[in-house]
Amino acid sequence: MALTKAKIERNIRRIEENVQTACAKANRRPEEVSIIAVTKTVEFEPVSWLVDLGMTELGESRVQHLITRGQELAEHLRRRRQQPARVVRWHMIGHLQRNKVKAVLDRSEIIHSVDSLRLAEDINARAEKLSRRISVMLQINCSREDRKFGIAVGAATHLGELVSTLANIRLVGLMTMARLSDDAEAARPAFIRLRELYEEMRGDKIGGDDFRHLSMGMSQDYQVAVEEGATMLRIGSALFEE
Ligand SMILES: *Cc1c(COP(=O)(O)O)cnc(C)c1O
Repeated sequence: MALTKAKIERNIRRIEENVQTACAKANRRPEEVSIIAVTKTVEFEPVSWLVDLGMTELGESRVQHLITRGQELAEHLRRRRQQPARVVRWHMIGHLQRNKVKAVLDRSEIIHSVDSLRLAEDINARAEKLSRRISVMLQINCSREDRKFGIAVGAATHLGELVSTLANIRLVGLMTMARLSDDAEAARPAFIRLRELYEEMRGDKIGGDDFRHLSMGMSQDYQVAVEEGATMLRIGSALFEE
């Protein structure tokens, strides 16, 4: 059976209901939580359906995808006489190599995956040339396992201080990827750690008022993430389930 627009619509509704339930449980308002649709596993047509269905926050983990998807979608929206820049916001959520910074800044609104000072400095330099201020998050390794990417919890505050002084960067929050597991509860300790770190950094006034996002929670564990304070969920496969 093929994926259809109606199936995607049902998936969106189900996810939204689950988010509402999790918000009610945690005494939070659903408006505090946005869903970023991660499109890395699908062809272009389902991406266009998502946008038609009102999903306007889109995420990609690879620069090349960000480029081709962005172009395809811009073309699609132009045919409908819509301004792409007003309709969708792209989020860069995967590991970013320093030589790809330029391509990303041309195409995305928020970079979730800053994991070194050198990368932040490169982003800042490039943003300065464009006379822009770029929103970034620090990717934190909260799962106490050898993850390839992400800053150690113990190093985050210091790095946050340095990054937040860069003039063309807006430090808007923290991001983490929990351990992949069939059991959503397995992710909870990592989400709690990220929230505690976030509260500590807010207490230190790092990033000021801009610092207000927790990007955590994927298809397996987004309800738990909402319960622990997520403001941005990065959801892929649950949107495209048949
Ligand atoms: C792929 C990806 C997601 C979405 O994962 P799903 O399990 O498909 O929801 C979220 N965040 C990052 C960084 C990813 O690469």
